[in-house]
Amino acid sequence: MRNERQNDTIAAIATPPGEGGIAIVRISGACAGEFLRAAFRPAHKGEMKHGQMRYGTLTDPTGAPIDEVMAVFFRAPRSYTREDVAEIHLHGGSMCARAAMERLLSLGARAAEPGEFTYRAFMNGRVDLSEAEAVMGLIGARSQAARRASIRQLRGGVSAPIGRMREELTGLLAKIEAATDFPDEIDEDVTAKDVREGASRIRNELSRAADGRRARIVRDGASVVLCGRPNVGKSSLMNALLSADRAIVTDIPGTTRDTVETKVTLGGYLFRLVDTAGLRDSDDPIEQLGVARSRQALAEADLVLAVCDGTQPLTEEDHDLLREALAQADTILLANKRDLPDFALPQPAANDAPNTLTVVPLSAKTGDGLATLETTLAQRAETLLPQAAQSAAGELLTNQRQTQAAQRALDGVTRARDALDLGMTPDALLTDVEAALEALGELTGRTVREDITARIFS
Ligand code: GDP
Repeated sequence: MRNERQNDTIAAIATPPGEGGIAIVRISGACAGEFLRAAFRPAHKGEMKHGQMRYGTLTDPTGAPIDEVMAVFFRAPRSYTREDVAEIHLHGGSMCARAAMERLLSLGARAAEPGEFTYRAFMNGRVDLSEAEAVMGLIGARSQAARRASIRQLRGGVSAPIGRMREELTGLLAKIEAATDFPDEIDEDVTAKDVREGASRIRNELSRAADGRRARIVRDGASVVLCGRPNVGKSSLMNALLSADRAIVTDIPGTTRDTVETKVTLGGYLFRLVDTAGLRDSDDPIEQLGVARSRQALAEADLVLAVCDGTQPLTEEDHDLLREALAQADTILLANKRDLPDFALPQPAANDAPNTLTVVPLSAKTGDGLATLETTLAQRAETLLPQAAQSAAGELLTNQRQTQAAQRALDGVTRARDALDLGMTPDALLTDVEAALEALGELTGRTVREDITARIFS
């Protein structure tokens, strides 16, 4: 498939469809320079220099102008794909870019497949797999947190520590092999001790890496569950939060009939808001189903917003709900209807664990207090997500493929350690350490199978 076509020159419109100031057409491959020379006439004489933006005219085969453009040429290997690359910056809207594409195709370029520029960057060793995924993560980022994780990953935040772990494992492998090959000269106990120590270091780092929760929060947003008695204002609050979202809101059909899930960006963080049906025990089988689903949502919540009506004292049901929420996740108590004269701050009981409970008074009706809630939510999201630039590799893994590879590496190292604990000789660990190494290699794409890379880039 793609590999056989690695030698041709590809072209694609790099900017999104629709009207805009500029449209960019990008070309990569051995003929990029030739195609550019054929179709682009610089306004001033002189060779195109590497990385220099030139003004001129893009022309059709008869020499008639297609558009007035800026063009730039990057000579291999100093380009994104490590091939010769040209970019033509045209006027926005789709017509100029399409005409430019037609011109390039008629010259012999092939229309690039989605992700093919980055695929070439990967195949040519310009980026490793985790970095290529980071590029795609940056492009697809739906929150500032996702963008930060991707840019850190792109800058080698994953590759470097994974590389160190690979080195350590390779060292252990060599020791195990030596102990197996020269059992008389090498002390098995010393090897076992080294392997145990190395394994425990790597396990520490990998167990964080394999924690899919962070990756999920970065990618899909933290799950925030809204719960509360009927009529306290959950739906009104949900609507108020949605209109506070100035980014794009995607409605996701609820996974169940009774929980509605909506993605929303607040304070730069992506959240999945889940509105629950209620938690009150009931005899009605339909309601019971709803309650079971609400409990399920609560069990999976990263954060709970427990809503109460601030014009009434907390009821027994409110207390039950709070206790249940606090048992599951970090909880914020929202005292709603602050706009009404009867409003008073609720008094959580001691066994509602008031120490860890933040109370935010607000009004879903007037919007008063929503900004405070937004800040509070952003602060909580921040504690759930990696912040420090030097955070461990694991905290930077952003997709399932990566966390699963980390999990396999962790499994291999754990099996090796367990085998040692059972008193097995070093040679019995070989396969497990090798499996761990292979999984680590997959993370950065060193040992990944071609069918997998093809899937990732498509
Ligand atoms: P839910 O059953 O918890 O989803 O509650 P709703 O959002 O349907 O609200 C119940 C009632 O309370 C509705 O009549 C809302 O208009 C009203 N309500 C909700 N929030 C506020 C608020 O902040 N102030 C006032 N005055 N009324 C509110």
